[in-house]
Amino acid sequence: MSDALIIGAGISGLSCAWTLRKLGVDATLVESGDRAGGVMRTHRIGGYVIEGGPTTLLPKPETLEFIEELHLSPQLVKPAGARFVYAGGRLRKVPFGAMSLPGLLRILAEPAIRSQSHADESVFEFFRRRMGREAADLVSTAVMGIYAGDTRTLSAAAAFPRMVDLERKYGSVILGMLQSRQRGKARKTGSATFKDGFETLANRIAEDVDIRLGVQEVRLSDARAVVVATPAHQAAAFLERDQPALARLLRSVEYAPMIVAAAAVPDEGFPQPLRGFGFLVPRSESMHTLGSIFTSALFPDRAPRGMQLLSSFMGGAFEPEVMGWPDDRIWDTVGRELKQILRLSSFPQPVLLIRHERALAQYKIGHERFVGAVREELKGKPGLFLTGNYLVGAGVADCIEQGQQTARAVAEYLRRKP
Ligand SMILES: Cc1cc2nc3c(=O)[nH]c(=O)nc-3n(C[C@H](O)[C@H](O)[C@H](O)COP(=O)(O)OP(=O)(O)OC[C@H]3O[C@@H](n4cnc5c(N)ncnc54)[C@H](O)[C@@H]3O)c2cc1C
Repeated sequence: MSDALIIGAGISGLSCAWTLRKLGVDATLVESGDRAGGVMRTHRIGGYVIEGGPTTLLPKPETLEFIEELHLSPQLVKPAGARFVYAGGRLRKVPFGAMSLPGLLRILAEPAIRSQSHADESVFEFFRRRMGREAADLVSTAVMGIYAGDTRTLSAAAAFPRMVDLERKYGSVILGMLQSRQRGKARKTGSATFKDGFETLANRIAEDVDIRLGVQEVRLSDARAVVVATPAHQAAAFLERDQPALARLLRSVEYAPMIVAAAAVPDEGFPQPLRGFGFLVPRSESMHTLGSIFTSALFPDRAPRGMQLLSSFMGGAFEPEVMGWPDDRIWDTVGRELKQILRLSSFPQPVLLIRHERALAQYKIGHERFVGAVREELKGKPGLFLTGNYLVGAGVADCIEQGQQTARAVAEYLRRKP
């Protein structure tokens, strides 16, 4: 029996298992499915390369170190391209093309706003208060691409902790950003991914750890330390019998569903060559498509010659019912909307449709209290640890970081309790 058992081989569990091995802890990673990676999955179909889960990550310096330690830095690519918002019948470049002059001037007035965020402030209210209504609307559209959620019910402190922190420290988000940049503390931004797809990362880590696939039955008593690295509802199911109070808390986490619809269009179907990162659609446009990534414009080798690949998203917190739509209705809707938005002369051809019932954890108002309550419960269960995207950061880089932190806590626990 290993000293530590990690349950769930998504990026959270993989990062935790890899770090434990680095720290010299005897650890086993168990996965109920037949592959490592969880939602991180790269599909290859007829010359198309499609990400079923994350497409890019926003690396922190520690993420880049982790990737370096895995010898994957040469595989890292930084896709660049303008991002657009579809509004008023055309694609507008973010941010300047998507905002009016008064809206931009209102953002510039942000340093003069003296008020401070309160604990239960929503994302929408935070940005409206600091930067004005137009900026808050733009953030709401951008949040569709991150949490697929409703900014009026998401918690500013949980979903945008850095922004709230800058306000607390500097009295202004803009001044805070400028000052941290001057002090060299600003985070490296710019999204990144792996040349051959995200699965490169999952597969590389899986090579280095003791991983058992297709494991259906594990018990808390199977190891001295147990890390549950599954989504919240699956963690709740696992802990139901032994830890009912913790399970109840975990069950309260809401997730937004998401459909990924990858479609192809021949080059000549576009009025001009496809360039850019992709677009998002504000809710005010009353469309079903949340947004689309211009996959083949970002990564030329992800579509056969003469074809373009577009990965579009539907669902989210506002329209969970699309999950119940049959495939042909989804293809018809995505195709029609892509044709209108990109002014295509031909109808997009279906390549792959993926349905995620529970795609993205919603950091609702009160999320910080939820995390506090989980930590409190865990204090009474030494040897039990939780990590995953529903706690303090949903992005891949956050999951890697939380996995690493959990591994350090496990190593420390095992050292103190031989
Ligand atoms: C469609 C989509 C697009 C996204 N896009 C981005 C993006 O562009 N950038 C970004 O940074 N983030 C993105 N995210 C978020 C990010 O990908 C996820 O938050 C992250 O990959 C979650 O990893 P995880 O390990 O916590 O969970 P998961 O990937 O869900 O892995 C959990 C694993 O646990 C296993 N498991 C569950 N129960 C058990 C059990 N009882 N026993 C054993 N194993 C079990 C599951 O089979 C699974 O393999 C996206 C997410 C989705 C769904």
